[in-house]
Amino acid sequence: MKERKPTGYVIYRGPSLLDGSPIVAIALVHSTNAKTGDMVQTYILRADENPLQAMMAGRDAAICGDCKHRPSTGGACYVNVGQGPNAVYKALERGNYPDATPEAVGLMVAGRMVRLGTYGDPAAVPVHVWQWLVAQAAGRTGYTHQWRNEALAGEHVAHLMDLVMASCDSEAEADEARAMGYRYFRVRANGGAVARGEFICPASNEAGKRKTCSTCGACDGSERGALKASPTIIVHGAKARRFIAIAAA
Ligand code: SF4
Repeated sequence: MKERKPTGYVIYRGPSLLDGSPIVAIALVHSTNAKTGDMVQTYILRADENPLQAMMAGRDAAICGDCKHRPSTGGACYVNVGQGPNAVYKALERGNYPDATPEAVGLMVAGRMVRLGTYGDPAAVPVHVWQWLVAQAAGRTGYTHQWRNEALAGEHVAHLMDLVMASCDSEAEADEARAMGYRYFRVRANGGAVARGEFICPASNEAGKRKTCSTCGACDGSERGALKASPTIIVHGAKARRFIAIAAA
């Protein structure tokens, strides 16, 4: 009988760079997502605990750091942890994802688009893992809320910011990111203005969902120049109101 190919691989097992807890990074080479389109998805999870349990207990700091949108601190994170992350963790427990080097998986996904941190902050994982994963890719998208985390090594953050966008929840944060030389992705309230040097995310409702992330690829960090424009989107979804209150706090 023909052996089934794995749908994903563990590309990192080790301590979180955010708090030292055991974590894994898993690259799913086959998955579907309406907003992103066909992209390789990556999940950063605690290795020792179901993500729902970790989230409720606040032990998701291992993979989210001090992000203000963590549910245990009253945040409004848009990720439904009971779905994708929980399903990926259960598949991990069943042994469905073999270990593979990020170099090897990077070759498997050559020519494809890769999303860094479908769940979890890419800052938790050594940056060389991501560099290898995207080395042959057609492009990448990714975001981090940890771009001001002074507990992280400066070199780690500098290389990471070449690959991913600074997540910003206000104009003040966007100004700060810009001053640090980072491109960013800014979430704004309904009616909020688009600032100079920003453009509306083409996958948004306000832009008529003209593209998906796999056809846009603009959220690829600062490597090609911090002067490149940064996207913005009106906050949406069931938790939008809470999100704005937290962002303004
Ligand atoms: S700007 Fe492009 S890559 Fe970034 S979130 Fe929007 S569609 Fe995706």
